[in-house]
Amino acid sequence: MTQRGTFTKASVRDAPLDRSRVLARVDFNVPLTEGESGRTVADDTRIRAALPTIELIRERGSPTVLVSHLGRPKQGPDPALSMAPVAARLAELLGAEVRMAPAVVGPEVELEAERLGRGELLVLENSRFEPGETSNDPELAGALARLADVYVDDAFGAAHRAHATTEGVAHLLPGYAGLLLEREVRELTAVRDHPERPLCVVLGGAKVSDKIGVIDRFLDRADSVLIAGAMCFSFFRARGIQTGDSLVEEEGIALAQRVLERAEPSACELLLPIDLVAGRAFEATTEVRELDGIAVPDGWMGLDIGPRTAAEYSRVITAAGTVFWNGPMGAFELAPFASGTRAVGEAVAAAPGLTVVGGGDSAAALARFGLADRVDWLSTGGGASLELMEGKPLPGVEVLLDA
Ligand code: ADP
Ligand code: MG
Repeated sequence: MTQRGTFTKASVRDAPLDRSRVLARVDFNVPLTEGESGRTVADDTRIRAALPTIELIRERGSPTVLVSHLGRPKQGPDPALSMAPVAARLAELLGAEVRMAPAVVGPEVELEAERLGRGELLVLENSRFEPGETSNDPELAGALARLADVYVDDAFGAAHRAHATTEGVAHLLPGYAGLLLEREVRELTAVRDHPERPLCVVLGGAKVSDKIGVIDRFLDRADSVLIAGAMCFSFFRARGIQTGDSLVEEEGIALAQRVLERAEPSACELLLPIDLVAGRAFEATTEVRELDGIAVPDGWMGLDIGPRTAAEYSRVITAAGTVFWNGPMGAFELAPFASGTRAVGEAVAAAPGLTVVGGGDSAAALARFGLADRVDWLSTGGGASLELMEGKPLPGVEVLLDA
């Protein structure tokens, strides 16, 4: 099979795995829910996405130590953010025993790692229980490196962070790319560097500042950039349009102004909403009103794009050779404001061109509308996918061995 995009790093497929103990960094940062039998995994998409790499390592007979972060524990170990429910779900998915370590590192964990037999699995505790994780402490990296002989990184969603488990440890062990990480980089770089034309970039979500890097890069390189979500209100304010009680990122107004000025002479078409759906409050039961234009009266918040905007955006998406979409069109979590995101999601799903979607909330929206399987690539990385699209090097990828 010929693969899209470029990837210059050594693959786990070519790693000298046999008999070596593997430390695999995975992205098991999944949502949990409190049930009758304790905490369980609410959405196992990310665990499933790591299975091909885990299975490949097990088939080669290597004992495997798995590590990930989970949520944002404030200081030290927090039982509510233990990896135990994740290890339990992984065991179900693999139909195999999965051991749970008592901590991230330390003598007890080292002993458990040493005891692992061929193809056996040990899940470490939440890496962020260790303060040295986010500070990329060499001592923590050293303690992690003592658990294995080979490092495999499959955590694309964390690859934009230079943390001890994503970067530091790869200076101490030979580092190979997992299958998911490789596929993510290939799919996204293909869109970024060699898109089939026309290239349509659809950006929604909450803040301009989150997406400004991507807008900046694609104003020169895409054929169209479609803006929606709360982000559009920074653009409207920059144009002196009334935004009522809409969510406006104030710092985003100057950024939006700059984008509008750059878009003027650019061959790239910058589209903004032409109509909106408004509500009194950010609530599913609020009073709802379709606005004929984009001026939002006081006492109202713009919470979705209107039907004319959805139709126009869908038309551009359908005509594109490549579509990259990040960020919902509106407050899709609330039923009265989900139509815009659903319409655009359906257009992306039905588009004849190559379709790639990134972003946690965008993925959640596609899943909610039953469209997740109908795009060509649904990235598991939010921030990482945006940074890659911006053209920034990802520290977790850079540090791996070259092919
Ligand atoms: P992603 O995770 O896909 O990158 P973001 O995190 O940037 O997306 O944005 C998603 C959030 O933006 C959602 O929680 C959604 O409710 C919110 N949002 C989108 N449009 C609006 C709007 N008009 N007003 C308020 N919130 C909005
Ligand atoms: Mg988000």
